[in-house]
Amino acid sequence: MGTRKASKDADRRIGRRALLIGGAAAAAGTAALARDELGRLWWRVPGVEKPRKEGEVDYTGARWVAASDANWRRADRPDDYGIDMVVIHVTQGSFDSAVKVFQDPEHGAASHYIVRKDGHITQMIRELDVAYHAGNRDYNERSIGIEHAGFVERASSFTDEMYEASARLTARICARYDIPLDREHIIGHVEVPGTDHTDPGTHWDWDRYMRLVRKAGTGAA
Ligand SMILES: [Zn+2]
Repeated sequence: MGTRKASKDADRRIGRRALLIGGAAAAAGTAALARDELGRLWWRVPGVEKPRKEGEVDYTGARWVAASDANWRRADRPDDYGIDMVVIHVTQGSFDSAVKVFQDPEHGAASHYIVRKDGHITQMIRELDVAYHAGNRDYNERSIGIEHAGFVERASSFTDEMYEASARLTARICARYDIPLDREHIIGHVEVPGTDHTDPGTHWDWDRYMRLVRKAGTGAA
């Protein structure tokens, strides 16, 4: 989360798509593309997107509350942008205030998910779409953002229920997009290049979290 504006996220998707399609056409002219590669490229044609249903969530058990569409950009991931990262955030405020600011078009930022102290999960942006959460366009395009309601300076923000629920969510996301369960791919906002944010902070127990993610990832949780 943060206070940064999303100007770096100006919509350049059309340009990039055109580029991809141009490249694909050129490649097809010179060499036969593998069948699965063609299958992937098909989704990159403008106007061809996976079907969506209003209120649908990507994670079973999550409650849907829509963020303002000023705080994310429509995309068709993982077909237009590959997803290979989960970014962990802390809201620096209550759960309710985080939901409120993500609904505020003036905020200019929002994450896909918010995990509450009791383990309740709210999804506000589809994983298909690019959420403005990392303050870095490349990282936004390739990642899913998960907020944790609380404060970086308060160890008491991070409850057992929160760690466990968040770890199950992250494990599920990683399984879906084939993301390795390691700290290269599951990172804190503080680790995003160019950021001035410190979340999730020193009280966030990475060893514990990664243990829980791996446990959930192997189906043992
Ligand atoms: Zn953050």
